[in-house]
Amino acid sequence: MTCETLIFAATCDLAGHVRGKAFPSGDLPSRLKSGVGYTGSNIMLSAFGPIYATPFGTKGDLKLVPDEAALASVPGLDGKALQLALGDIRNLDGSLWSCCPRSFLKRAVAAMEDEFGLRLLSTFEQEFIYTGVEAAAGSSYAFDMYRRSGLLGEAIMTGLRTAGIAPDSFLPEAGDRQFEVTIDPAEGTRSADQAVLLREVVRGCAANLGARAILAPLLSPDGTSSGTHIHLSLRDLDGKPAMHDPQGLFGLSEAAQHFAAGIIAHMPAITALTAPSVSSYYRLRPDKWAPTWANIAAQDRGASLRVCPVTATTPEGIARQFNVEFRVVDAAASPYMALGAILHAGLDGLRNKLALPAHPQEADADYAAAGVSPLPASLGEALDRLEASSFARAALGEALMTAYVMLKRSEIAALDGLTEQQVCDRYAEVY
Ligand code: GLU
Ligand code: MG
Repeated sequence: MTCETLIFAATCDLAGHVRGKAFPSGDLPSRLKSGVGYTGSNIMLSAFGPIYATPFGTKGDLKLVPDEAALASVPGLDGKALQLALGDIRNLDGSLWSCCPRSFLKRAVAAMEDEFGLRLLSTFEQEFIYTGVEAAAGSSYAFDMYRRSGLLGEAIMTGLRTAGIAPDSFLPEAGDRQFEVTIDPAEGTRSADQAVLLREVVRGCAANLGARAILAPLLSPDGTSSGTHIHLSLRDLDGKPAMHDPQGLFGLSEAAQHFAAGIIAHMPAITALTAPSVSSYYRLRPDKWAPTWANIAAQDRGASLRVCPVTATTPEGIARQFNVEFRVVDAAASPYMALGAILHAGLDGLRNKLALPAHPQEADADYAAAGVSPLPASLGEALDRLEASSFARAALGEALMTAYVMLKRSEIAALDGLTEQQVCDRYAEVY
């Protein structure tokens, strides 16, 4: 039997899940205009499945319109390839819907370009737990664990290339059965598309090997966490690096200092978007190699914003490699919302010419005494910070702010009364 090829049109939604509808691939030309049916309450589908509460009710029609540039082949089961087309949620007249996650990012990408002649080049690193191996003592970063993972690394690299993504590296990470995949950077919205595809490639490859890739922030509150670090650098409209100045603070150009200052200033508010699950906050605790303060530091993996080292030795090479890493992210976050939040915050730093805060650089510094803001300690606190931020209200817009906060407050309520371990278990089922 020859089967008809389908294309699955999807977004990575507010819950960080890839959801949508499939249509026959021959219909692509017309679907690029008409999209697939969508309604406001679809965006209120929770991490765990049900719609708990919605500002939209049963009313209203929208369309999820695939973007041909974001059509990729990703691994399905039994070696079969699936066509996945990421896209935008639009009103029926074709305009972008105010609560579309990809459009939230696109708005910031366009403003950076129009107002400052800058583009963001970024890439997402993804850590995850692979259930196809057994935990083994001494296996952190070990060749032995790499060997035990069998075909996983090669399958992921092949899957990435097939999806049109240039792979960078694959490694056994520090935790039990933990691995990491890194990919080459891309500009603007494409980078978030790549991150969505990367996660589906990893999940598909693990499923093909009869196992699961669990991308949830943690399997247990005391265990090793899985983050989704995002590396960021700026380019001008001719593609020239615009991030580095050897004389600048931390080696950052003037524009990059404003950009980074915006991210630091708004970090406590945007954490609700980048670390969006209840268990995300078990990760943002001391001794996880994850951040706890809204700080910037050179080459410190405990910082929220890490100024990364370069291996190049020529000025051009250094300028090209120079980047900062945003570490307050995990895979419960839609890449569109996470990168959008970072970019809107950086844009606010550029618009207001914000200066980087002077704060201590030692790893054991007394940040509280130095007036550095701690990151929120729970999703509830993060949502309070988000709602209180006039910057976030303007960046998201009223409709998206209302929908997001309602979705996430319902998620907290759905987990009420569970122990931290039970909360981790719930997220491990769905991410
Ligand atoms: N697993 C750590 C996290 O949750 C990061 C370890 C690393 O620096 O790669 O962010
Ligand atoms: Mg890592």
